[in-house]
Amino acid sequence: MLFDDPDFQETIASVLVPVAVPVAYTYKVPPGKTVVPGTIVKVPLGTREVVGAVWDVEPDAAINPKKLKSISRVYDETLPLDDDLRRFVDWVANWTLGAPGMVLRMVLRSEEALEPEPPVPGVRRIEGAEPDRSTSARQRVLATMEDGFAWTKSGLAHAAGVSPSVIDGLISQNVLEVVSLPAAPPPPKPQLDFARKELTAAQQAAVDRLVETFDKPGGGVSLIDGVTGSGKTEVYFEALAEALRRDRQVLVLLPEIALTEQFLRRFEQRFGVYPAEWHSEITTKKRARVWRGVASGDVRVVIGARSALFLPFRELGLIIVDEEHDAAFKQDDRVPYSARDMAVVRGHLSKFPVVLASATPSVESHVNADLGRYSLIELPERASGAALPDLQAVDMRQDGPERGRWLAPQLVHAIKDTFAAGDQSLLFLNRRGYAPLTLCRTCGHRFQCAHCSAWLVEHRFQKKLVCHHCGHFESVPESCPSCQSTDSLVACGPGVERIAEEVSDLFPQARTLVLSSDIAGGPERLKREMKIVEEGGADIVIGTQLVAKGHNFPKMKLVGVIDADLGLAHGDPRAAEKTFQLLAQVTGRAGRVTGGGRGILQTYNADHPVIKALLSGEKKAFYAAEIEARRAAGLPPFGRLAAVVVSGPDRTFAEGYARALARAAPHDQAVTLLGPAEAALAMVRGRYRFRLLTMAPRQFDLQSYLRQWLGQGPKPTRGLRVQVDIDPQNFL
Ligand code: ADP
Ligand code: ZN
Ligand code: ZN
Repeated sequence: MLFDDPDFQETIASVLVPVAVPVAYTYKVPPGKTVVPGTIVKVPLGTREVVGAVWDVEPDAAINPKKLKSISRVYDETLPLDDDLRRFVDWVANWTLGAPGMVLRMVLRSEEALEPEPPVPGVRRIEGAEPDRSTSARQRVLATMEDGFAWTKSGLAHAAGVSPSVIDGLISQNVLEVVSLPAAPPPPKPQLDFARKELTAAQQAAVDRLVETFDKPGGGVSLIDGVTGSGKTEVYFEALAEALRRDRQVLVLLPEIALTEQFLRRFEQRFGVYPAEWHSEITTKKRARVWRGVASGDVRVVIGARSALFLPFRELGLIIVDEEHDAAFKQDDRVPYSARDMAVVRGHLSKFPVVLASATPSVESHVNADLGRYSLIELPERASGAALPDLQAVDMRQDGPERGRWLAPQLVHAIKDTFAAGDQSLLFLNRRGYAPLTLCRTCGHRFQCAHCSAWLVEHRFQKKLVCHHCGHFESVPESCPSCQSTDSLVACGPGVERIAEEVSDLFPQARTLVLSSDIAGGPERLKREMKIVEEGGADIVIGTQLVAKGHNFPKMKLVGVIDADLGLAHGDPRAAEKTFQLLAQVTGRAGRVTGGGRGILQTYNADHPVIKALLSGEKKAFYAAEIEARRAAGLPPFGRLAAVVVSGPDRTFAEGYARALARAAPHDQAVTLLGPAEAALAMVRGRYRFRLLTMAPRQFDLQSYLRQWLGQGPKPTRGLRVQVDIDPQNFL
C-alpha cells in the first residue's frame, strides 16, 4: 500500500489556491520536483488551471492517492514566498475572516511576473571588423559604439541618428553581430545624497526620532502629526534614505493613485531616480517587472496603493503610510481590509518600523499615540514658516447667493481679488457631474438607477445620466419618460460641472479647470492637468476630493468649500472626524509655501462643532472631544465593530435570511447585535442589501464570535451573499 510507504509523505503537498475556500488543497508533487513551503505552483482546479503556493500546513494524507491531482507546474525560477509573507497572508485571512487563498491572490496578482521576460535582440561590434566602405552614417554608428557595449537596434539607430537599414547593412557585413540582451536592466538605485534639503530643526529632530526606531528590536510605529506644509514628506524621505543605507527595502503607501505622479517627481528630485510604482493603472509588463524586482531585491523602493502591501519583498524594512487617516486605505470588496492597519501588522510580524503620517490623523492613531503604543512626532509649523490659512465661514442662511447660484457674494469677491493678484483659487465640492438629481417640473418624476437605490447624476459634458454606484448610464431624454412633457427636466443641486459653469459666467477671462476622477481622458489626462495646476497654468480650479489630498500647488492662495456640510449628515460614526479631516486638508492647500492663504467655508451649520473647530484652529480640542464621545459610546477604537452585509437578488428572501441569521447569533453579554436593517444603499447592482452590526468591547475576540455564529447559522442559498466587514469604514 502506498499509504505505508515511508516516502509517500514526500510526494504530496498542501497548496493554497486562489479561491474562497477555508483550507489548502492536497496535490501530488510531480516526480523529480521538489517543493518547499512558499513554492509557487500551477495546479488543476475543477476545469481550470490556477496559480497557487505550497503552504506549510499538513497535507491531507487520508485522501485516496488515486484521487489526488498532480501539481502541473513548479515555478523553479521564482524564489519561494518567504515565511514572513506567508504568516502575513494567514494573519490577514484570520483577521478579516477571509479565505487565505483570496488573500494569497493579492500576492500573486501578476502571473506574467512568474515567467522570465524574453530577451530582446541587440547588436554588438565584432572586434577588429571594418565595413567595406565607410560612409558618414556608418562612422556615426561605430563612434557611438566606441565603448564596446551592446545596443538594441532601435536604440542605436536613434542614438547615432541613422536609419535602421544602416545597422542592417553593418550586420550583413559582419561588422556587427546580433546578441540577446536582458529585457530590462535592473533599475538604477536611488542616490542617497543626490539632493538633500537643509532641514529645519524641527524636521531634523523628527528624522532623528524615526531613525532611533530603526535600532529598536521590535520596530514599532511612529505617527507624524504635522500641519499641512510642515515638511512631513521631507522628513520621511530622510528616514527612507536611512533605511536604504541599511540595505532595507522601503514601501510608501499613498491613498490615491492620482497623487503618485507628483510624488514620483518629488522622489526623483530628492534621489535622482524614479522609484517603482504599483497600482491598478500600471501596465501588465510594468507590473510584472516591479513584482520580480521586489522579489529579487533589485527594486529598493516602491510607491504604491494599498495592494502594494502584498508584494513579495525580499528585505522589506520600512513602511511609510502617508495620509494615514484616508478612508481609501480601506478596501471594501472581496477581502475587506485596512491597508494602514495591515501595514502596522506587517511591520509587527517582521519586526520593522512603520511610519504613519498625516496633518489630520485618524482618531484611532491618535488614541494609540496617547496610550503610548505609537510614538508621536509633532510638527506644528509649516517648514517655510508660512502661516496656516486664515479661515472664515459664510452663513448661507443669511449671506447665501441668489436662487440658482451656488457661490456666495463673499466667495465671489475673494475669487476676484485672488485672480486680480495673479494667484490661484480652488473651489471644492465633493460631487462629480453637473447635478446630483434631475426631476420633471411637470409631474415630479425623478431619475433613478434601475439597478441601485440611487439617483442618476447628470453629466452635462457627456450628455448622460450616470449611476455612481454601478456605472449604469443613459442619455438625457428629450421628454419626461413619465408624463411626456418636453423641456420640463430640471437639475437639482450642484456638482462640479455646474460650479464650473457659474465660474465661467462670472470670470470669463479666467483659465478654469475641472479636476474630477471621471473626466474624459482618464488618469493620463488627470496627471497632465494636475501638473498644469502645479505650474500655475490655471486660475480657478474646481475639484472633488481628488484635489483635497496631499498635493502641493504652490500658487494656490484661496480655497472655497462650496458645501461644508456635505459629509455631516451621514449615519456614520466617523462623520464628524471625516468632515474635519477633509476640510482641514482641502483648506490646507492654500498658501502652503508662501503663506497668505485663505479658506472660505459655505455652511448652513455655522455653529456645528466641526465648523467651529476648523475656524478656531483648535484641532486638539476637537480631537479630545471626539475621542471622549467615542469612549462614551464604546465606538472604535474603544470598542470593536463588525458589519455583516447580506445581499441577494430577491428582497423578501434576503430580508428573511438576514432575520434568520440574526436569530441564530450566539448569546454573549459582551456583544450587542443591531439589525438587520435595510442598508442606506438598499440596492446595488440589482442586489438588495441588509446590514447587521455587531459591537463589542476592545478586548473581545469578535472574529471567533463571528466564526462561530456564521458557522452554525443558516447557510446562504439562492444567490445570497454574506460579507463580513471587520472595523467597517463605510456604513452605506
Ligand atoms: P507636508 O508633507 O507636511 O504637507 P511637504 O513635505 O510637502 O509638507 O512640504 C511643504 C513644502 O515645503 C514643499 O514645497 C517642500 O518642498 C517645502 N519644504 C519642506 N521642508 C523644507 C525645508 N527644510 N526647506 C525648504 N523647503 C522645504
Ligand atoms: Zn414628467
Ligand atoms: Zn446603479
